[in-house]
Amino acid sequence: MTVVALVPAAGRGVRLGAGMPKALVQVAGRSLLVRAVGGLLDSGRVHHVVVAAPPDQVDVVERELGEFDAAAVHVVAGGADRTESVRLALAVTERAVPDADVVLVHDAARAFTPPAMIGAVVDAVLGGASAVIPVLPVADTIKQVDEAGAVTATVDRSPLRSVQTPQGFRPGVLRAAYDAAGGAATDDAGLVERAGGEVRTVPGHPNALKITTAFDLAVAESVLAVEPIGELR
Ligand code: C5P
Repeated sequence: MTVVALVPAAGRGVRLGAGMPKALVQVAGRSLLVRAVGGLLDSGRVHHVVVAAPPDQVDVVERELGEFDAAAVHVVAGGADRTESVRLALAVTERAVPDADVVLVHDAARAFTPPAMIGAVVDAVLGGASAVIPVLPVADTIKQVDEAGAVTATVDRSPLRSVQTPQGFRPGVLRAAYDAAGGAATDDAGLVERAGGEVRTVPGHPNALKITTAFDLAVAESVLAVEPIGELR
């Protein structure tokens, strides 16, 4: 049984404003990317990790990941948007690991994802699901607004979920979704849905938050200051 994780990490990190790719930003002495890749390998369920790096920083990212087994962690040049970065990493994976049973796609920015949650996604795919996503209930009240910003409706939030990564797929399902994809998507399961596939859910975890802004980074640093790093990566 072979599990491969694709890690899109080729974003420029503009919203974070750190002046470097977000994946390379450090939290308590370790970059988001090292934490994300370490979490995947620590789950004990992932055999290969393929990281999509900013095309002009492949060597920088390779050095950054030097602490991991070079046979398990590979770096490829990413694309212009996340969908393109995943597409490029998937193509390399299909050539390098043609016998994969499960392909995960995991954002480098979700650096604190608990390894047990990664295992739950893998188990759900091995249990027969074609596509699996970790989700959380929506905590905020959700309003619908018109173009002028006036509220037109309060949406029933009970059936809504916010979506995290890793998202897990049977390899052929992810390949078919990418082959059918018309344009960019914010998550990979969205492409499976567009292609008519069924997507199942497992419980997400608050620690799997996506680090997007300087505030998120400050939250992660504060959490690490009070919780043992080993538990959170
Ligand atoms: O920008 P956002 O946080 O939504 O990006 C999600 C993930 O996609 C990040 O880990 C980012 O590095 C990655 N990404 C990528 N290639 C791009 C843009 C974003 O791999 N061209």
